[in-house]
Amino acid sequence: MLTNTPIQILLVEDDEVDRSIVRRALSNSGLAFEMQEVFDGADAVEAVASRHFDCIILDYNLPDQDGSDVFESITRNQDTTAAVIFLTGEDSEELALSVMESGAVDFLNKNDLTPAILQRAIRFARARQSFLSELTRIGRRDSLTGLPNRSVLEDTLTNALAQCRRSKTVVAALLLDLDHFKDVNDTMGHPAGDELLQAIAKQLKFSTRESDTVIRLGGDEFIILAPNMEDEQGAQQLAEKILDAMSQPILIGEDQVHISTSIGIAIAPNDGTSSAKILKSADLALYKAKGGGRARCCFYDESMDIKAHYRGQMERDLRQALQRQEFELYYQPKVNAKTGAMIGVEALLRWNHPERGLVAPDEFVPLAEATRLIIPIGEWVLRTASAQVMAWEKQGLHVTNCSVNLSAVQLSDSPLLEVFDSVLSETGINPSCLEFEITEGALMKGIDTIAACLQAMRDKGSSITVDDFGTGYSSLVHLKQLPLDKLKIDRSFISNMLTSMNDAEITNMIVSLGRSIGLEVIAEGAETEAEVDMLQNFGCDQIQGYFYSRPLPADQLFAWHQRHNLVPRDVHSRPVEDGHGNLAPQGQVSEAQHLHLYPAP
Ligand code: C2E
Ligand code: MG
Ligand code: MG
Repeated sequence: MLTNTPIQILLVEDDEVDRSIVRRALSNSGLAFEMQEVFDGADAVEAVASRHFDCIILDYNLPDQDGSDVFESITRNQDTTAAVIFLTGEDSEELALSVMESGAVDFLNKNDLTPAILQRAIRFARARQSFLSELTRIGRRDSLTGLPNRSVLEDTLTNALAQCRRSKTVVAALLLDLDHFKDVNDTMGHPAGDELLQAIAKQLKFSTRESDTVIRLGGDEFIILAPNMEDEQGAQQLAEKILDAMSQPILIGEDQVHISTSIGIAIAPNDGTSSAKILKSADLALYKAKGGGRARCCFYDESMDIKAHYRGQMERDLRQALQRQEFELYYQPKVNAKTGAMIGVEALLRWNHPERGLVAPDEFVPLAEATRLIIPIGEWVLRTASAQVMAWEKQGLHVTNCSVNLSAVQLSDSPLLEVFDSVLSETGINPSCLEFEITEGALMKGIDTIAACLQAMRDKGSSITVDDFGTGYSSLVHLKQLPLDKLKIDRSFISNMLTSMNDAEITNMIVSLGRSIGLEVIAEGAETEAEVDMLQNFGCDQIQGYFYSRPLPADQLFAWHQRHNLVPRDVHSRPVEDGHGNLAPQGQVSEAQHLHLYPAP
């Protein structure tokens, strides 16, 4: 962008005749300019250090130094955006090339110096300079929201700290991460997501003071630096003000969007003085806020470092777990709700940690997903479960259905289909024996890409189940779009069914919903006979839960099946576990027993 403000020019030239040539050429060029003249390199360096120039016209043959040395001290050691034009008394291609390569904008022969040439050279120099400063301006601002970006964090914090040192106050750093922002992007589209981010940026500016700095760190992460806080109380108040403002729905197009944010707070200088340390402290606090149920704020405290250390250790251990063969699959039977016969199993991952013993997937799957380790681990799960089905087959146990859980990470951009194909050919398993469980939440993320992947697996004969159904926000429209076979009602509904009318109703509703769109329905987490009865009454197709069996190692599943087959009339009594996964049916005759018979094999 060229404006009419006079161009600030520094002329570095020892020869009075040459200076007057330049002066005359400039005057006749029609450019508005202001020019300072110096006679040698040392003065040139001093002049550049003391004020701003748009353009430096530099004689190559100076009395004290070589022109290229002056050029170097100007550009290397000083933060100037001035464009440099060299002047020489000779025509040398070689010299021209070398100065241009070092970053000069132009190279002019004094003998050819006409107003037109000089004007063009300076115009070009000016354009380049404003282009560069525009670049730095863009570089420091987030183009979507217009807020400053991450690059200003360090400087802003340093300035704020200096200011607070004088007034003996502190700087509060509030790190914000929107809750479930990805869902908005996925369900409403990226333009709506962008609009939401813009609205939130405005909201944050509105909720803060002029002296506070709101920075967009990237994605749905923002940080607010608030100087001159007396104590933590002030930070708490600001956080609450923001949480409060965010609890109002935001209008995007015609939709009212409800979005909340979690806030992690660190206080400088107490919790760190560098932007890196403050970010890390605030991030640990944010992690706690998210874990505490979102839409809340948490302050950093030192104990968080220990937990972060623990997480780091866990990640290192997890990276080695595959090659150290620390993973194991347990299998939990799924039964036909009407007959009680085992219709299949679900493979569930266990981690035999060398020091911590058996670790449940809820403790490490999220970390495996965050680190994408779930991709190789998930591949191992699929291969191992398939090999196990084939091994049981050899032992005479026909497991015609084995569920494998898939994470959204595996579905999004890993070569899952290639893995699937190679597992099929390596193990020889019939793909119709495999069922894939995807949680409702994962399914709704990026429906299009996921649907294609699921369809390909389904085309081969495998089936697809929505896991933890009822906890997400899937709509009937989506469910109809996706290539699905089964809904698995989330355990939370089953365990509350007997005490909460609402949960019983939801369960009943899910069963009829499944029916209406041609999907089978399975309930997980049935622990008591009463729950099993209720599920049967609702017309649920399949049941899985501790009532029948806990997840078991492969050999014990085999043994369980043998016993389960032998005592069909007892399938509905609560099995007792001896602590090693060996189950003995209680053998109590139940009133509803006749309902749960299944035909002898
Ligand atoms: P999920 O797929 O919904 O698996 C069912 C969970 O409920 C299992 O927990 C199972 O042990 C538990 N469960 C089954 N019946 C009962 C019951 O009657 N009462 C109670 N209280 N719990 C019951 P688990 O094995 O701890 O797995 C937890 C979650 O971890 C799974 O939930 C699944 O989302 C994930 N997961 C497990 N294995 C894998 C895997 O190989 N890959 C991936 N991506 N995720 C896995
Ligand atoms: Mg599952
Ligand atoms: Mg589940």
